[in-house]
Amino acid sequence: MSEKINIIGGGLSGSLLAIYMAKRGFEINLFERRPDMRKNKMLAGKSINLALSTRGLRALAKVGLDKEILADAIPMYGRMIHSKTGELSFQPYGKDGQAINSVSRGRLNIRLLELADEFKNITLHFNTKCIDVDVDKSIARFEMEDGSHQTFQSDRIIGTDGAFAATRGKLQTSERFNYSQSYLHVGYKELIIPAGDSGAFMMKKNDLHIWPRGAFMMIALPNPAGDFTCTLFLPFELFDSLSTKENVVKFFNDEFPDAVKMMPTLVDDFFANPTSSLVTVRCYPWVKKDKLALMGDAAHAVVPFYGQGMNCSFEDVIVMDECIEKYGNDWNKIFDEYQKERKPNADAIADLAIQNYYEMADKVGDKHFLHKKFIEHELSDLYPDKFKSQYELTTFSLSPYKYALDQGKKNDILLEKIIADKAEEKIKDAAYMESLWKIIQ
Ligand SMILES: Cc1cc2nc3c(=O)[nH]c(=O)nc-3n(C[C@H](O)[C@H](O)[C@H](O)COP(=O)(O)OP(=O)(O)OC[C@H]3O[C@@H](n4cnc5c(N)ncnc54)[C@H](O)[C@@H]3O)c2cc1C
Repeated sequence: MSEKINIIGGGLSGSLLAIYMAKRGFEINLFERRPDMRKNKMLAGKSINLALSTRGLRALAKVGLDKEILADAIPMYGRMIHSKTGELSFQPYGKDGQAINSVSRGRLNIRLLELADEFKNITLHFNTKCIDVDVDKSIARFEMEDGSHQTFQSDRIIGTDGAFAATRGKLQTSERFNYSQSYLHVGYKELIIPAGDSGAFMMKKNDLHIWPRGAFMMIALPNPAGDFTCTLFLPFELFDSLSTKENVVKFFNDEFPDAVKMMPTLVDDFFANPTSSLVTVRCYPWVKKDKLALMGDAAHAVVPFYGQGMNCSFEDVIVMDECIEKYGNDWNKIFDEYQKERKPNADAIADLAIQNYYEMADKVGDKHFLHKKFIEHELSDLYPDKFKSQYELTTFSLSPYKYALDQGKKNDILLEKIIADKAEEKIKDAAYMESLWKIIQ
């Protein structure tokens, strides 16, 4: 009889995991708290678009979805920085046309559910809210649409139910389970820059636009219809102070004057759209015996500033799949290797993401930072086999996030040394650089 697996949470990682596991012949039940978003596209969750990059694309490629998703995506080749006075400056993300891709969260999730539905061995359940799991018996209990409760038994359970996972709740009350959640002091609100006449983009299309203001910032990602989804990140106290129409208009005119001209519904959107918080969740272990495993945000919610939460969650799916390939039906080994491989990398991307908030909000306008970025680009152009920036390692490579974090710290020492030695001109001299490479080894 084939292995029966209950996957709880039909978001991005749960629906992709269901497809991977169905391809291995398991009998999958995928439970999602929300209604079926394919039937009502307004319910496709947060309209925020996401930056999809190398790791996420690799996971989609394995189920044949990468090209299709990319066809509907907008590549963003770098950051377009908007100063208070409206001057623009461009900072490329990588080289040779490397780009991150703006994709719609809703459309991606719908496409994954559509593909999952094509498998005879996947059953999709909507309006099923997990309220409890009995780990030893591998039973999950759900609140159904009509308020009744139902239980579903399986051989094992995988919790992909997001940052506030019900499946994790059970582990949180068990012995020697480490758990922390920390909220960033800033919250976020979605706003919009609509398309111009005939769907024209009102700003440069292929960039991630940033208005860095030190203690806060706004970003905008392009959508295929010509509009931009803006996300305003502000300390909560500042959000609280923007309580009247006049305050909001004045704040935007003072801080984002070039953007405000393109935001005709700004005030209505500001008061209609919720202010949400940003949490980092760290926990361990991620598994209980060979019965329960956590994956995606359920195991490691990170703040969104490196654009890696989904990419990291998709990489979890690949690692779990590789462990199944390696250990067959030995689920103790599968779960154990999965968590040992992923935990240090999840911790690393959590740190990188917080670090990137300060970089995006504050440093992208700082002269010393820009000077370092310039040298960094030169080094990676001159010595592609020896030098890779932290951004490149995180976003455009499959190197472990932990390696990207550690290497970034070493790179920083190297860059500071070059600047301290006033040796910017010498970096083209391979003999000079030879004495420095040991810093980053
Ligand atoms: C503002 C913002 C911007 C972001 N930008 C990016 C980006 O650019 N790039 C990137 O890679 N990542 C980004 N992320 C992170 C990304 O959204 C998450 O990492 C990703 O969605 C994680 O996928 P998941 O499947 O683990 O969780 P989710 O996508 O949150 O899915 C969890 C699912 O479980 C369901 N669920 C919850 N509780 C229950 C329950 N009790 N029973 C049944 N179902 C349940 C939910 O309805 C949901 O469908 C961003 C996040 C935010 C908040």
